[in-house]
Amino acid sequence: MTRAIIKAAEWTLGREPGEGAPQAICSAVCMDCGQEAPASDNDRAPVEMWALKHTGLNPSHRQYKAMVETYWCVYPA
Ligand SMILES: [Zn+2]
Repeated sequence: MTRAIIKAAEWTLGREPGEGAPQAICSAVCMDCGQEAPASDNDRAPVEMWALKHTGLNPSHRQYKAMVETYWCVYPA
């Protein structure tokens, strides 16, 4: 958690506290063909399994760009 003084108000940066907001959205893209794994909330295992299956079906496709999105919120300290 990060704190800063901005225009005489103290703010805190933290994880998005919204109800139902995922802590992370995981996905991956094949670097050979651009096919993208279905996104997965809070669990990277389905994305990893997708990559393994994708390489199994396309043995020359072995490199992926893995992505994890997180959401922040700034609120008064
Ligand atoms: Zn591919």
